[in-house]
Amino acid sequence: MRRNSFRVTLSAANLLVAFLASSSYAAKKSSSGGAGSPITVVIDAGHGGHDRGGIPGQRVAEKDMTLDVALRLSNVLSASGYRVVMTRSTDVFVPLGGRVAIANSYRNAVFVCIHFNATGRSGASGIETYFYSRDSLPLASAIHHYVTGGAPSANRGVRRRGYYVLRKTSIPAVLVECGFLTNPTEAAYAQSASYRQKLAEEIAAGVRGRNSVGSGFTTTRVATAESIPLQPYIDQTKVTSSKKSRSKRSHKKSTRKNKSSSKRSSSDARASSSDREG
Ligand SMILES: [Zn+2]
Repeated sequence: MRRNSFRVTLSAANLLVAFLASSSYAAKKSSSGGAGSPITVVIDAGHGGHDRGGIPGQRVAEKDMTLDVALRLSNVLSASGYRVVMTRSTDVFVPLGGRVAIANSYRNAVFVCIHFNATGRSGASGIETYFYSRDSLPLASAIHHYVTGGAPSANRGVRRRGYYVLRKTSIPAVLVECGFLTNPTEAAYAQSASYRQKLAEEIAAGVRGRNSVGSGFTTTRVATAESIPLQPYIDQTKVTSSKKSRSKRSHKKSTRKNKSSSKRSSSDARASSSDREG
């Protein structure tokens, strides 16, 4: 119950901030995209407060990395004329319902959740971007295109998954996993301010480019110079129908152990994505 009143206070505070921000950014509105395009970006730094994120015993706290990237993203987007709303801008815990309520209080907006990945296998690495509603795929494609283009980490693809913050939001919503903090190389990247700035700039480029993504949900398109190719995605939402293939997969996994490293990393991808919940 205390949590509820906290949430209400927080939403009200955010609305106030948004109201104040709207007047200062009103003049810049036209520079943030074409007519009718979303102009408010709700940025969600994953975890916070008592919720460190990641897995038990993880050295680098996910909540600190997500907040830093989110604040940098806020700066970059504000500088390009976007109205920005943060679900948290300090090290506090905001329940998922509170985050969604903030996002859903805006129209003409998009929601971007910043996370870093974790798994027990230190070899697992790479960047993945999640979406749920079809309306969110262009934003996911664009963000993933830029982030993977600008990062040395592996491309683990765009994935469709029913995370709470993606399922419950009524505006286009995307969750970016900016690399594995349990991987020594990627943890070292994440701890570099210049790398976090780069991540923020690439995510911002994706927000700007969201309307340039080639359309067509399943077709492979040849991208023009102006358009961002629709990123191939992995559907992880069909829980019941995947039962069969999952048991097949685990069989394959055991027979595949000594094969190429690229195959090993793709089985890492499946295993680790079922390991953690955002
Ligand atoms: Zn997370």
